[in-house]
Amino acid sequence: MLCVIRKAALFAVLAVIQSVNFVELEEKIVNYFALLKEREAVGSSYIFIGDNPSVIDRLLKVINCVKSKTYCQKCWSCVRVDNRRNPDLMVVKPEGLSIKIESIREGIRFLSLKSYYCPKKILIVEKAHKMSQEASNLFLKTLEEPPNDCVIGLLVPKLGDVLPTITSRCRKIYLPWQEKKVKVSFFSGKKPFIPAAPSLKNRKDFALFLENLILSLHSQLKELLFKGKDEGFLGLDKLIEGIEETLKIYKAHHTININLALNLIRMRLQ
Ligand SMILES: [Zn+2]
Repeated sequence: MLCVIRKAALFAVLAVIQSVNFVELEEKIVNYFALLKEREAVGSSYIFIGDNPSVIDRLLKVINCVKSKTYCQKCWSCVRVDNRRNPDLMVVKPEGLSIKIESIREGIRFLSLKSYYCPKKILIVEKAHKMSQEASNLFLKTLEEPPNDCVIGLLVPKLGDVLPTITSRCRKIYLPWQEKKVKVSFFSGKKPFIPAAPSLKNRKDFALFLENLILSLHSQLKELLFKGKDEGFLGLDKLIEGIEETLKIYKAHHTININLALNLIRMRLQ
């Protein structure tokens, strides 16, 4: 049996893991927009950072569905988000290497027209970091003061890819990673496998690895807590230390040196 103090420590760590909650981030964003809709407080200009287009489609439905607090998937508006035949929705994309000034001009004209059916007119600019300098400059005034009942959404992979003059005019929403499948295997035998830095191609892979590692350690911890197994592959103290270290690194994953971070995790877990 686990002693009371150990059990309390485990619950504390479990609570921290649950507060990270990246697993449910997509649902949180959808619910956040549902709440904004309910309070009639949906903003006019957003920048979505990440690469998860499925969330964007869900948000488009939330904003304009009047049949449900979130979205119903059946109404006129919801159906036309899926088939992209909604006259109140326009999507601008790069043509060739960049988004041309003509496309942005067309988007601005679209926003100035009265809405056809939906409560809000929505302009989405995919790969907004590819806007030409001219297109960005033309867009600034509209981003700052869009016409009434309009929502503009800019999609970018990284915040640093767009001009600060653009980002400062938008509310920022960080999207969850698109792929949640385990790219890095943790447990060869019984110990977690910590990859060498070069096998993680970029920070996205690094973050994905950390998320999956935390989930893995989380399930080990639950085994200990709820099934009363006294020792996992690591031993309780090492497991707690490992989780705390990994959580700290996860919070700093945008800036931390990946090699150093992996060494720290390796020291704790192996
Ligand atoms: Zn609907």
